[in-house]
Amino acid sequence: MPVLSHALERLLEAYGPRGWWPLPSRADEPGRDDEGYLRGPSGTAPADDPACRFEIAVAAVLAQNTAWRGAAVACRNLWRAGLLSPEAMATSSPERLSELVMPAGTFRIKAGYLRAMAAEWPSIEASAEPTRERLLGIDGIGYETADCILLYCFGVPVFIADAYARRILSRTGLVGSCDGYERVRRIAEASLPQEADYLCETHALLVEHAKRHCKARPDCKDCPLAPSCDSYDEGSQRG
Ligand code: SF4
Repeated sequence: MPVLSHALERLLEAYGPRGWWPLPSRADEPGRDDEGYLRGPSGTAPADDPACRFEIAVAAVLAQNTAWRGAAVACRNLWRAGLLSPEAMATSSPERLSELVMPAGTFRIKAGYLRAMAAEWPSIEASAEPTRERLLGIDGIGYETADCILLYCFGVPVFIADAYARRILSRTGLVGSCDGYERVRRIAEASLPQEADYLCETHALLVEHAKRHCKARPDCKDCPLAPSCDSYDEGSQRG
């Protein structure tokens, strides 16, 4: 059975640091590229940058069940409209917010989620360290979104066991194919360093790997994990 940390080393070697979390409103600022990714390793939001934390949380909601491209456009729309702050967002009209986040899909639902989170955000920021339970109590925030917020906004060392991670870990034999979010999270956390920056890069690398090779229909040719993967399919081809 492969070791998760060794698999991550191979992904880092193959893809390089991913520079998460991208902030569309800060594209081309010093240290970021034209899409808002960090030029260098992934990491947590600076402790003294509440605007950065809120944008990450908003983007985590917008990215639910959609491609990042649409979430990034929606995030930029909010920024240009001056609504990328908890105060402005919580008091914005549902119609205006829906219109701006349309590129992220299910826009009326996501606008409602964003208003609910924005209303709670000041008290979340005021807490010494937000808990999962606190975040899960907000309408529209499930395990994955809560863990993205905990890790990238507040530096809480959690493994994000999203669908990409579960797919890769089950195919490589690290977890069972029927294991759910919480079980995969616990298994991964037990075998990885409990360091926030490490886990930020881990999530970003797994997303990259799921997009490049370990897709719904895997493309195993030249996969960096092929030598130790239980599901390697020598017949798979780039489509
Ligand atoms: S070898 Fe194939 S199934 Fe295994 S991790 Fe790579 S792409 Fe996924």
